[in-house]
Amino acid sequence: MKKVQIAGILKSGQVGAEITIKGWVRTRRGSKNVSFIALNDGSTINNLQVVAEVETFGEEFFKNINTGAAIGVTGTLVASAGSGQSVELKAEKIEIIGLSDPDKYPIQPKRHSLEFLREMAHLRPRTATFSAIFRIRHAMIFAIHSFFNERGFFNIHTPIITSSDAEGAGEMFRVSTLSAINPPLNEEGAVDYSQDFFGKAANLTVSGQLEGELFAMALSKIYTFGPTFRAENSNTSRHLAEFWMIEPEVAFFDLNDNMDLAEEFLKYLINYALEHCMDDLLFLSNRLAEEEKVKPADQRSMELIEKLRFVADNDFIRLTYTDAIEILRNSKPNKKGQFQYPVGGYGTDLQSEHERYLVEKEFKKPVILTNYPKEIKAFYMRLDDNGQTVSAMDVLFPQIGEIIGGSQREERLEVLEQRMDEMNIPREDMEWYLDTRRFGGCPHAGFGLGFERLMLFVTGMGNIRDVIPFARTPKNCEF
Ligand code: ATP
Ligand code: MN
Repeated sequence: MKKVQIAGILKSGQVGAEITIKGWVRTRRGSKNVSFIALNDGSTINNLQVVAEVETFGEEFFKNINTGAAIGVTGTLVASAGSGQSVELKAEKIEIIGLSDPDKYPIQPKRHSLEFLREMAHLRPRTATFSAIFRIRHAMIFAIHSFFNERGFFNIHTPIITSSDAEGAGEMFRVSTLSAINPPLNEEGAVDYSQDFFGKAANLTVSGQLEGELFAMALSKIYTFGPTFRAENSNTSRHLAEFWMIEPEVAFFDLNDNMDLAEEFLKYLINYALEHCMDDLLFLSNRLAEEEKVKPADQRSMELIEKLRFVADNDFIRLTYTDAIEILRNSKPNKKGQFQYPVGGYGTDLQSEHERYLVEKEFKKPVILTNYPKEIKAFYMRLDDNGQTVSAMDVLFPQIGEIIGGSQREERLEVLEQRMDEMNIPREDMEWYLDTRRFGGCPHAGFGLGFERLMLFVTGMGNIRDVIPFARTPKNCEF
């Protein structure tokens, strides 16, 4: 008999149908005459209830049907007597596929802490919470490709190993096959990378943007979606050493077009989750509500689904850096000295606490901050006419802070060269990049969305380690 998925059965299973399902036992409880097995195959947050007569299988048989065991069940769908589900499966045949020792299986049918489950990252997908998160993760990946495909963008795989360290500034992971103990040295006594695998120093990419720009200068609308690596030693709940980034890049686009695209993109993804992941979102929402109960009322955050709808339905605030600094300087927490980093004058880099103040307290909406001082932004961002600021944009979200960073790019060769010189970026390594400004250069813009930051927002989870299958963070590279 053909195996079917539990998701399909619960949605449209017909009473009387003969089916086979396979999955893992969540719980089993029983009386003298009948055993109830909650079976889950990961296709949905919901379990299918299997009803097995003790008389049919014998009492002994059920000793092996423990939490975590893999079993296959063939039987007939019957109308469910219990509440919640329309059908349950009356078992005729049960196959025990993989045993699970109930005393040793770490994932018990109770609430485990997220910290404990991080140590159990190989088994945590078996929990309701993590299976929900990773189904939503899949839906978001699919929605990202749909969004761009529907709008005529082309997906480009930019390299993972690169030799340009223009952006990294010491935050890159080196890729080398040289001996770590005894590397060849050059005349100056430094490691001689000319003898390395690529004949020069190479690193894992921190962004696909520069290569993405080359393709936007040919295919007009492109996006990358790939792994990104940063060796920044920031042990926060929002940073990973290995994460995934989506980077659209569009020719003939200015900063306003770029902001419109970013806002439309984020709203599309949130709406997609609301349309396609409601069961999982409801589960996560309840979970979150339980957690919030212990907090004082004024510190509780908005209910998850309400929050997603709110962001999807409202315009984002657009504000220049200069105006933001004014607001922050005059804000209550700044005057009362409650910020860890007091907001000084024009030119200070914004910390996450400042970003969150603007979003959560001042505007109570996502904010797009634009036109930052050139000193605190990258060399490739377009210099504004005032000569002081660049056409940068950061999208700031509640609870997350920066979720997107982007800009209109500097398309004027002389200005770009001057900016590179000012910021000590060796031009000779970047001739390929400068070529796009020499031959048919044009205004263009793009941004980077951190995929796991999006996942934090959509799932309401608080720690970025919980929205990626296997987190890589400082001092942590298990599994
Ligand atoms: P932050 O200030 O939060 O470290 P950033 O300014 O370094 O971010 P960008 O270089 O603009 O970020 O990268 C684009 C996007 O990639 C960010 O808006 C964020 O969503 C995401 N991102 C950046 N660094 C990380 C990281 N270490 N882990 C996960 N996501 C990240
Ligand atoms: Mn960073």
